[in-house]
Amino acid sequence: MIGKSNKGPKDRKPKEKKPSKRLGELYNISGDSIERKNKFCPKCGKGFFLAAHKDRSVCGKCKYVEMISKKEAPKEE
Ligand SMILES: [Zn+2]
Repeated sequence: MIGKSNKGPKDRKPKEKKPSKRLGELYNISGDSIERKNKFCPKCGKGFFLAAHKDRSVCGKCKYVEMISKKEAPKEE
């Protein structure tokens, strides 16, 4: 009676839906004011956060890139 294969489908437990990101990662909550850390994509609209990189924000959907300038560069044209 031996020879059971373990390849048979086991009962799958329903996966818990994890939030893609914790709220605390996307928002600065100080007191009763909430500050968004990440910007929304101007092209995709609200709900699509720009992924924050070191020096730029990138939309994972449309690849929109927004450069982050830490210093306020004087406008010289
Ligand atoms: Zn986008």
